Amino acid sequence: MPIQLEAGIFQRLLDVDANINAIIIGLITIGLITILTVTSYSFEEISRKYKKWYYDIALGLIEASVLILSMVVVQHIFKTINAGSSANWFYATTQMTLLLYSLYTMQNHFIDLVNIIAPVYIFGHHLANGSTTLNTIFITAFIALALTVIYIARNKNSLINQEWKYILLQVIYGGIWWMIIWSIYKFTLLYTINMLLVFVIYMWVIRFVAKWIRNSFNNYNNMSEKVNYDELTGIRNRGNFDEVSNAIFKVYSEEKDIPLTMVMFDIDHFKNFNDTFGHLAGDRVLSHVAEIFHSQLFKRTTRGQLFRYGGEEFVIIFRGINSKDAMKIVQSIRDELVNNPLYYNGNKLDIRISFGVSQLSPSDRNFKDLFKRVDTYLYKSKKSGRNRFTVEGDTVEFQ
Ligand code: GH3
Ligand code: MG
Ligand code: MG
Repeated sequence: MPIQLEAGIFQRLLDVDANINAIIIGLITIGLITILTVTSYSFEEISRKYKKWYYDIALGLIEASVLILSMVVVQHIFKTINAGSSANWFYATTQMTLLLYSLYTMQNHFIDLVNIIAPVYIFGHHLANGSTTLNTIFITAFIALALTVIYIARNKNSLINQEWKYILLQVIYGGIWWMIIWSIYKFTLLYTINMLLVFVIYMWVIRFVAKWIRNSFNNYNNMSEKVNYDELTGIRNRGNFDEVSNAIFKVYSEEKDIPLTMVMFDIDHFKNFNDTFGHLAGDRVLSHVAEIFHSQLFKRTTRGQLFRYGGEEFVIIFRGINSKDAMKIVQSIRDELVNNPLYYNGNKLDIRISFGVSQLSPSDRNFKDLFKRVDTYLYKSKKSGRNRFTVEGDTVEFQ
């Protein structure tokens, strides 16, 4: 079956059926590009989160499979639309677009491999059914394509921002592909110019759509920020603490010289505020405590991160500060809080707090070890009579 290049692009513009087909294919391509883009960004997130080589390999393989599957889908759709034939210039351009788009978007070497192997697969197929023979044009084009793919794979991040170089590489990539196709089906080489032009325009539209998808995806991710913050106090919540603490442990368990301190505190007899003045008074106390600690930690440039762990229990994580210095900071903030009491409907609400403080030690196997120790210290402060702090096991009452 010779490739249907005889119907040139400009004649085709007047062909209603061909245009409807083009619209269908265009929409399907955009759908596939959406799937590829979302897959790529979701996998990037997972990979960043787990930082495990076997995750990267598994995700890379899945990504490559998604690309291959998309190409198979395109092949079948073209066959259906063109009544049994998938051999036309628009078909080739669509497949090229999927391949090149994935090469730029997906950060994995399996995609590079698919790009390099694709011509061998197509050529091998035609070699097997006897419609072509091994020729130097194919071999030359294949080597040139492999080199181009490797070059793009290595420089994709800088290429994306260099418009002219990007287009030039696209023309080279498309040009080599048409050389490969020409080594199988002979067509008038003049058409190559038309086809490259369509390829550049097609990719331009696809990049535009992909940019739009990326922005929507980022907005969706920002929505998850709301999930990370506590509604009442506006500070980070338990879910965020779990996420941050795991990440922090990974870093600080390796950085033996930089201390990491965790402070846990709980409002004393908090239930009394609720019982005496009502739930809203309790809420005000929580917001007030969160607000004072949050703003004071910020003012003192301590980089201390405050979380509402649950109910009237809070956690602060101090990076680069040992437990003794962390306690000094926390004590001065606590004094500030006690010296400026909160009034609710004319009632003075005396807030007292108990603390537990400890720093990460080399013997901690995971963040939980540190967490349990701090929790025990807080419990010790409570047990010893409240309004106290316990730093590395030693309990002291506030003055
Ligand atoms: P302790 O000194 O031992 O910590 O005693 P406590 O009263 O502070 O602690 P307890 O655990 O007995 O009571 C905590 C209460 O906090 C129970 C719960 O109803 C209340 N609480 C939890 N979350 C909220 C909230 O968001 N708003 C209000 N108003 N109350 C809350
Ligand atoms: Mg309490
Ligand atoms: Mg409590």
